[in-house]
Amino acid sequence: MDYDSLLNRGKAELPESVESKARFEVPAARVHLEGKKTVITNFDDICDRLNRDPDTVAKYLLREIGTAGARTDGRITLTGIFSPAQIDSAIRQFVEAYVMCKVCHLPDTKLIKEKRATTIVCEACGARYPVKTIS
Ligand SMILES: [Zn+2]
Repeated sequence: MDYDSLLNRGKAELPESVESKARFEVPAARVHLEGKKTVITNFDDICDRLNRDPDTVAKYLLREIGTAGARTDGRITLTGIFSPAQIDSAIRQFVEAYVMCKVCHLPDTKLIKEKRATTIVCEACGARYPVKTIS
């Protein structure tokens, strides 16, 4: 057996979740300007990757950046001109607060929204804790 097949074999025997956790990275926003508006063209992809509802992410992002925006066809259009760095930093803050478990630091969490409270539930370590509701 050569080295490559050994490597593939080792990989196949790893539980799938271990590998996906190791590879988790906050996706970078793809941003372009349309006149005086800023469009994030991969917005829904980012939300998919973070496993969060685009409405929730949009609310957070707009509040954080301090502007209005509209979602269409997997993109979000922000009123005003913003740099990719500004947008990435807001998304990163969202991930810190609403995706990564603060106990085990894995992204395998769910947000549970009740009437006035939001709770993070971690599927990796079982932690549950309240977070600020995004409104
Ligand atoms: Zn956890």
